[in-house]
Amino acid sequence: MVNRSVEIWEKCLQIIRDNVSKHSFRTWFEPIVPLDFKNNTLTIQVPSTFFYEFLEEQFLDLLKKTLHKVIGPDAKLEYHVLLESSSDRPQTIKLPGGDRPNLINKPIQMPMNLDPEAIVNPFIIPGIKKLNVDPHLNIDYNFDNFVEGECNRLARSAGYAVAQNPGGTAFNPLFIYGGSGLGKTHLAHAIGIEVKKLHTEKVVLYVDANKFLTQYMEATRNNNRNDFIHFYQMIDVLIVDDVQYFSKKEGTQEVFFHIFNHLHQHGKQLILTSDKPPVELNGMEQRLLSRFKWGLSAELTEPDFDTRIRILKKKTYKDGIQIKEEILEYIASHITNNIRELEGALVSLLAQATLNKKEITIDLAKDMIDKLVKSTRREISIEYIQKVVCNYFQLPVEVLSSKTRKREIVQARQIAMYFAKNMTKASLASIGATIGGKDHATVLHACKTVNNLLETDKRFKEDLMEIEKRLKM
Ligand code: ADP
Ligand code: MG
Repeated sequence: MVNRSVEIWEKCLQIIRDNVSKHSFRTWFEPIVPLDFKNNTLTIQVPSTFFYEFLEEQFLDLLKKTLHKVIGPDAKLEYHVLLESSSDRPQTIKLPGGDRPNLINKPIQMPMNLDPEAIVNPFIIPGIKKLNVDPHLNIDYNFDNFVEGECNRLARSAGYAVAQNPGGTAFNPLFIYGGSGLGKTHLAHAIGIEVKKLHTEKVVLYVDANKFLTQYMEATRNNNRNDFIHFYQMIDVLIVDDVQYFSKKEGTQEVFFHIFNHLHQHGKQLILTSDKPPVELNGMEQRLLSRFKWGLSAELTEPDFDTRIRILKKKTYKDGIQIKEEILEYIASHITNNIRELEGALVSLLAQATLNKKEITIDLAKDMIDKLVKSTRREISIEYIQKVVCNYFQLPVEVLSSKTRKREIVQARQIAMYFAKNMTKASLASIGATIGGKDHATVLHACKTVNNLLETDKRFKEDLMEIEKRLKM
């Protein structure tokens, strides 16, 4: 007898295909295998429990309606979850449709790109075997050497509270934001280190958003997206640094959304950092943004003079060096809005003094700081502008010189010309020659077009402001 389940599932797929995105269809429906059809009950096989949960969470309504249409009002759905047991023999377990099963622990594979040494044991049977994940924490970034000031008081104390009781405070997620070099990464590590110190059993993981992106892309390419998700769902304290990099990455946002929900629902702690507050994160899905706002958003602002001095002193003290107060004050009064640069100035001053076997004098400090401040206000080149603009729109730089009339490319070229006109001393003719081999009239037209759009298109303006910010970084 022919297996009717195949035929029925085929009909269901025809309906489903019209109701979900191509991407969802491929990810969530193509891997399903129809197994059996008896007494109005269709049994389908899914690859994992997570897969089953996701279907029930996202597509329950669609599945119900579809089955109703294809099978009739008494239609029922049953899932078989394919499990690989520790003896490597596939097993199936039966789950009813429309209900929440107890979570089943199953072996997982680690996602690509994670240190293979890091996962000593890939099995997650609680109480029997424990997952051992390298938290990727930098021990130099701890609370002891994080100087407290008005600029970081709220974020620091919230971070400290979270570390005492991860997942147990109202600060979940803890969203730390602020400009470059103000201590987001340092504070994020400090929280992780403190958790590890107080709660040795907790699985802590620090991950840079870019690394998360790459891991996810590789996992998708290698067809182990589910393992990737499973891995992240087992973390007790997940720290994601620079989440602004998720902007415009829909696939990653979707997967992060599910990881976020799973962790949050299970009382796990999330710590996120970003260079902007949630409201200003463009290109981010609304539902994800609303999650970011669930807990506490705490800003890191520029340190005041007193805090800058204390940071410098802490650093010199740690390195066992003595520098005159007057010199520290000179540095602190000239480098005001970035702690990374503040530290950088101190390091170069020390290097200068050591290499040239000179004493650290106020003149040496002045000389060096002046050079440093000047070099950070360096002139921006047209090449650099093209690179930043293309990077922002995720286009290869070469397209700017191609003949295509594709709107996005024409616009990227115009934006590059606009910034070249405003940020360099180059003439219209040489800007045109460099960017796509155009003449001066084209550049002039580009600047006009961009100016017009700036006045009329809010979205365009936001894009431009972001590019400008990156150019000045
Ligand atoms: P961000 O991630 O915000 O760009 P980082 O955390 O990388 O900034 O900080 C830049 C540098 O400044 C790091 O070396 C860090 O140790 C130092 N720093 C930042 N904030 C403080 C602070 N409050 N006390 C001591 N050092 C700090
Ligand atoms: Mg950082």
